[in-house]
Amino acid sequence: MPTLVSRLTSGIGYVGEVPDDRDAGVLWMRSVELRGRGRPLYAEVHPGRQRLAMRRELCQVCGEPADRNDAGVLWLLEDRRKDWTGWPDDLTTTHPPICRPCVPIARAQCPNLWRGAVAVRVGRSEVCGVHGRQYAPGTFGPRPVGDDTVLLGEEPAIRWTIGSQLIRALYDCTFVDLERELARSH
Ligand SMILES: [Zn+2]
Repeated sequence: MPTLVSRLTSGIGYVGEVPDDRDAGVLWMRSVELRGRGRPLYAEVHPGRQRLAMRRELCQVCGEPADRNDAGVLWLLEDRRKDWTGWPDDLTTTHPPICRPCVPIARAQCPNLWRGAVAVRVGRSEVCGVHGRQYAPGTFGPRPVGDDTVLLGEEPAIRWTIGSQLIRALYDCTFVDLERELARSH
């Protein structure tokens, strides 16, 4: 863990910080610390790739561009339709989308999770925040106060957070019949 410093006006930073330590102004956990963290739903995503996959809408399994058609980008989501009317519109997630060739791989790797999953085409989505560790000023420097989700632009919390996972908000969602989607690729 690099040494953290707190600055009067700009929150926390690393001693010896480099430009790669930040994404959209948010301090980011260095990839060596990310190893073994995060709990991807369907496959063991290399945690260092999560940010890239979320930023560029890459497949959570292979890292190639996720499947996209007129209805949007393909996402597999844990079925939480009972959570609110219109779910998953407005859902925020740390799980990247997926490409069609990787759907059977994800299904084979996590059959239990698969049973509770739905396939959705996401017409529009945007990076909206990070999941990470929050810090507060302390006598001997910044001290961790817990893990939380913080929206980009949420001041001052975002300046006191070290991000570990990027979050996207999903809009214009349409449920799709996955078997039909997969059949179309043959
Ligand atoms: Zn893939």
